[in-house]
Amino acid sequence: MSKNVIVYARYSTDRQDEQSIETQIERCKALIDQRGWNLASTYQDSAVSGTSYKRRPGIQQLLRHVERGRIDTVLCLSADRLSRDVAHTAQIAKKLAYHDVELWTAKANARISDIEMHIGAVLSQEMVEQGRYRTREGMRTTVQKGKAAGGLAYGYRVRHAYDERGDRIPGLREIKDTEAQIIRWIFEEYAKGRSPKDIAVDLNSRIPAVPGPRGAKWRDTAIRGHVSRGSGILNNEMYVGRVVWNRREYRKNPDSEKRVARHNQREEWVVSEQPNLRIVSDELWASVKRRQMEVEKSFSRTATNRLNKAHRPKYLLSGILECAHCFGPYAIMAQNRYGCTNRQKKLPIDHLGGIVCTNRKTISRFELEKRVVEALPDSFFGADNLARINHDIAAAVAKKQKSATAEPDRLLSEMFAIEEKQRVLGNKIADRLLAGHAAVPALDRLLDELEQQRRALAERLEGLPSTSETVTAPPPLNPGSLRSVIAAIKTYVTAEETTADETWISIARQMIQKVVIAPAKDGKSADLTIHGRLAAILAAQEAWREVSRELRQQQSADFVRRRNAGGIKSVAAKMKFAQRCQDILTAKEREWMALQVSVVAGAGFEPAAFRL
Ligand SMILES: [Zn+2]
Repeated sequence: MSKNVIVYARYSTDRQDEQSIETQIERCKALIDQRGWNLASTYQDSAVSGTSYKRRPGIQQLLRHVERGRIDTVLCLSADRLSRDVAHTAQIAKKLAYHDVELWTAKANARISDIEMHIGAVLSQEMVEQGRYRTREGMRTTVQKGKAAGGLAYGYRVRHAYDERGDRIPGLREIKDTEAQIIRWIFEEYAKGRSPKDIAVDLNSRIPAVPGPRGAKWRDTAIRGHVSRGSGILNNEMYVGRVVWNRREYRKNPDSEKRVARHNQREEWVVSEQPNLRIVSDELWASVKRRQMEVEKSFSRTATNRLNKAHRPKYLLSGILECAHCFGPYAIMAQNRYGCTNRQKKLPIDHLGGIVCTNRKTISRFELEKRVVEALPDSFFGADNLARINHDIAAAVAKKQKSATAEPDRLLSEMFAIEEKQRVLGNKIADRLLAGHAAVPALDRLLDELEQQRRALAERLEGLPSTSETVTAPPPLNPGSLRSVIAAIKTYVTAEETTADETWISIARQMIQKVVIAPAKDGKSADLTIHGRLAAILAAQEAWREVSRELRQQQSADFVRRRNAGGIKSVAAKMKFAQRCQDILTAKEREWMALQVSVVAGAGFEPAAFRL
């Protein structure tokens, strides 16, 4: 039967070696023709980063199409087209699997299994990290050269200046006098004892209005900021002529997909003195700092640390909890209690006929974690299985490394070919001129075109990571360390600790893909259903218990029958019979273990659910 296929292509601007959308689609269509499939639709996203997901209309449309049904396969050039983020990849894979849709890639000309996709995503996330590192290094150099990097702070405007070649020098700024006056006024008022809130109200009520940073209304938080992080008007060291960069690093929060700032240690800051940008005197700055310290002291006596709220830990099961009624996420609502977020937000749910979700069950984080973690079998990773996963990872790394070294070679040979053409063409033009022929504009244009191509290749070569930066393999998994991780997770959960190690979380999540929460019939407790590999293992274990119980019953019945028939008389005969029974059990158990291992490895893995 011919398969119904959706093609997905994505082109992002954050990498240079990517194939265009057209090329991606073309290669996918070739595979569809070759296999005699049926192209149902194509979706695409361009110029968006591979780690952004919610902001990609193409992938959203694709998933909606998959939900509508009648699709057998999603096809893209390579798995990282779907996403370059591990969590998103898992999310997409889950959805495709739920709708019985296969994922194929044109590069591999094959179906991509769950685990391959996971490994691919881990590797490409590493590439994203590397790209981020390079940008940061670039900015570091810029700021050290004396130019400011990053956004434009309140009080400054961009200065236009040009180098000797007439190119604009980027990153230059100068003081904007009207805003500088406001900054000085804010510093003075605060030093005198006025609160940031009071200052904001004052500025907002002036006629004519004084627009705040980025044209917005003034807010106390924008004035107060955070002393330790150097944020806010009162803490911006640029106002005393110091440009500080690398104070923050922006990362995408995987839940909200918003960029969030992470704060670097002072040693990592890059500082450059720029007296021409000074707005506030050292004396005024110092008196503001003194007052901030006094405020901080009195504040810490009266309130618990507000910052703790901002650094909310990521819990073991956050993000993989689902409401049984509306399929919405369960999240922390009140102190350590999970509840349905759709219900809390009172969202009308389409598939519930437009009513608000009725699942009012909340569950304590500790109870939930305990019930789920207690279900983790102690030795769920067999040694065979780990060897296989390690082998797959090593192979994937080797492949990536190969393509990383092949790319510069390919570019170089293309460049040499163009240079050869340029030489031949140049000689031809020179010969014609020497022979007294008129110049042919077309030849000149051709020469220019070749030069453009050559430059483009040179730039791409420049932009490639150096070979020393090639992909490194993640450390191999070993059964011993995994067992200790599982033990650690159990201890963490029993001790009701607040934060868990990211590694534990990710390992646990590879096993538990989803936990669905419903109110129990008794109205008091919560019913939990685990989805994913853990569920499959638990189901296999339960089936094994059932099978072994039946086997034992059969064997004892057999024993009674034989003894009554006079078949077993001596002690030796009894022993022999018992041994034979034991052998059968052991052999059967080995079969079941092998089945479990293949479930973990993802071979023939069916999405399974298991009631805890
Ligand atoms: Zn709900």
